[in-house]
Amino acid sequence: MVLDSFMAEGGEYKQISVKPGVFKSDSLQNIILSDGSKLSADQYVFACGSWLAKLFPEVLGELIKPTRQSVYYFGTPAGDRRFLEDRLPVWVDFGERIFYGIPGDGRRGFKMADDTRGEPIEPTSDERKPSHEGFEVARKYIEFRFPGFKGARC
Ligand SMILES: Cc1cc2nc3c(=O)[nH]c(=O)nc-3n(C[C@H](O)[C@H](O)[C@H](O)COP(=O)(O)OP(=O)(O)OC[C@H]3O[C@@H](n4cnc5c(N)ncnc54)[C@H](O)[C@@H]3O)c2cc1C
Repeated sequence: MVLDSFMAEGGEYKQISVKPGVFKSDSLQNIILSDGSKLSADQYVFACGSWLAKLFPEVLGELIKPTRQSVYYFGTPAGDRRFLEDRLPVWVDFGERIFYGIPGDGRRGFKMADDTRGEPIEPTSDERKPSHEGFEVARKYIEFRFPGFKGARC
């Protein structure tokens, strides 16, 4: 939607990797695109999430450290509406571990995450599959906090 509006206003969109180019007197002169071209602008916005520190290591150093937190979607029990979004709020449990969840909406199941900081990951190349141990922790927790999910499919 935002992209459509941007392009309707004459904006140009490229899905491409970039890196900062030359700095002159503290100002970035250009960025280098992975197709080999360069682009100059008055302002640049780098919304690179977990990858941002890779673009500016000298500025950000160790400030951004991606870690693994796994997210699971459990099927809500058939015919039981208690775990859908019109009955249940988004919730978080700040205990020894941090668990949070988003109720199901009838299409995508009940989201539950163990948001306790996990091991460091390399967001480009590391495996994204949750670990068996992590899944068992999540399964145990959901069955403790929401007994209706006993044996629910993930
Ligand atoms: C599994 C998971 C579930 C989540 N669930 C929720 C939720 O339910 N609700 C919620 O509010 N938030 C949720 N979040 C958090 C939310 O997704 C993030 O806070 C949000 O996406 C951050 O947006 P962003 O644009 O800063 O970064 P990102 O969404 O990470 O986007 C960064 C983009 O930059 C691109 N990029 C990186 N390096 C380069 C480069 N050199 N050149 C060009 N492009 C580059 C990447 O490919 C990526 O597309 C979830 C996150 C995860 C991982």
